[in-house]
Parts: sequence; C-alpha cells; structure tokens
Amino acid sequence: MGQIKQTGTVLVTGGNRGIGKAIALQLAGSGYDVVITYNSGSDEAEQTVKEIQELHVQSEALMIDLSRKDEIPGFITQLKESNPSLFAIVNNAGIYTGNTLSNTTNDDWEKVISLNLSAPFYLARELASSIVEGGSIVNISSVYGLVTDPWGYGYQASKAGLIHITQALAKELAPRVRVNCVAPGYIRTDINKEARENVNFRAKVEKMTPMGRWGEVEDVARVVEFLINPANSFITGQTFVVDGGISL
Ligand code: NDP
Repeated sequence: MGQIKQTGTVLVTGGNRGIGKAIALQLAGSGYDVVITYNSGSDEAEQTVKEIQELHVQSEALMIDLSRKDEIPGFITQLKESNPSLFAIVNNAGIYTGNTLSNTTNDDWEKVISLNLSAPFYLARELASSIVEGGSIVNISSVYGLVTDPWGYGYQASKAGLIHITQALAKELAPRVRVNCVAPGYIRTDINKEARENVNFRAKVEKMTPMGRWGEVEDVARVVEFLINPANSFITGQTFVVDGGISL
C-alpha cells in the first residue's frame, strides 16, 4: 500500500534552520504545504523554501520577531491573507539563555519567556479557529521543561510552561483540534554550536545519553510528523520525549 499524501498547510515557526527546517522538510515530504517563519535568517529561509518546493508542495517564508507581541497582529493578518485555514501549527522558534540565578538579568528572563512561551500562546489564541477539524498544534518544548538544573531559569520555565499550555489547550480544543508537545534532549543545531566546540562537553553529553549520541534534527521531525498525522487521532495533550534517554 502506498503512503497516503496529506493535504493542508502547516505553519512552522523558525522553519528556516535547525529543528524547524527538518520539521518543514519532513512535512513537505508527506504532502503538506508549509509556511515557515524566520526572524533574521532570510538567506536560510529562501533556501528552505526552495528545498520545500522541490518536494512539489507550496511554500512561503514570512518574517516576524516572535518575541515582540506588537508584531503578532500584523503577522496574523498577513498569514491569513494567503492561508485562511491551516492544518497545523508547529511552535518551534526558540532561543536558549543560560545563566546562574544571580546573573540572570530581567532582559534575559523577559526575552526567553516572550519568544519561547508567550508567542506560542498568542499564536494558538489567534489561530486556533483557523485550524481545520482533525488538525493539530505541536509545541516544541525541551527535556529541561521536565527536569531542572540551577542554570537557565527562564529557558526552563518557558519550556515547562509550554507543556502546561499544551495540556490546557488540548482540553479546550478537543475534539476538533489535537495539541501535543515534543521535548527534545541534546540535538545538534546552532543553538548549541558554541557549546559543542568544547570537546569535553560533547563527550559529556554522549556519556550522559543512554543512546550514546547527540540527537539529529530528523529525530525530532519524525515525531512531529507522527503527532500531526490524523491517523493518530486519539493522542492529545501529550509530551513526547526525544532525548536518547538522557532524562531517565
Ligand atoms: P536554532 O538556534 O537552530 O534555531 C532557532 C530558530 O528560532 C531559528 O529559526 C530562528 O530564526 C528562530 N528565532 C530565534 N529568535 C527568534 C525571534 N525573536 N523571533 C522569531 N524566530 C526566532 O535552534 P534549534 O533548531 O535547536 O531549536 C528549535 C527549538 O527546539 C527551540 O524552541 C529550542 O528551544 C528547542 N530545543 C532544541 C534543542 C537542541 O538541543 N537543539 C533541545 C531542546 C529543545 P532566525 O534564523 O531567523 O534567527
């Protein structure tokens, strides 16, 4: 039996690079049209749109700084002009800020909360009614939304909050729309590029991870596709940990 082609448009925030790009390509490969957003990486956005279109689906890239709530209404209007309905939203755009308690500034805290937590909430609120029946929202959290470390307070709070929002939204939007979450462990992307340059850190992560390796972006993308697939229509409000076992 051949694979069934999916239809509809999926919005992937931060789809120009890293995990978001892998998600965008994975979904495009399944037949979805994909709208990606980016903040400053316009070259990567152009390249990703090209790669998506080569998979014979529609794609466009929209620029938005999702940490700025004043930019969201204009973005929603622009998105709806060409996409009055959506099949799914993947809230992926995010930053990591890591610091000790005393060295975390108000700005550090507010920036990471605005982008990683407030933006997914605003997008869900503004776009939930545009998602078609059987559609989905998938939020990209982190294992640091489940386990804690006295480091990166804002990041951990944002990712834990996202798991809670996922559960509340799943209850509110059921049975029309499902809402799930993915919590990755250490995945090789730009977000940890600097840290990975330290050979001891690289080895430490491998040692701490029962599967003995860093995750790849495709490890996350495949799970997102599974969650969006309407065949999995009895799964909602769940957080899928994709971490090679590091949080065990
Ligand atoms: P990258 O740093 O590779 O990519 C970050 C993405 O977020 C880019 O597309 C970037 O766009 C976008 N972005 C950054 N700032 C803004 C902003 N102000 N407004 C809008 N978009 C913005 O990160 P990853 O791919 O690794 O991370 C993707 C998600 O996965 C994040 O939510 C992250 O927290 C989560 N995650 C990642 C893990 C990892 O180990 N990699 C582990 C656990 C969770 P632009 O290029 O234009 O700046």
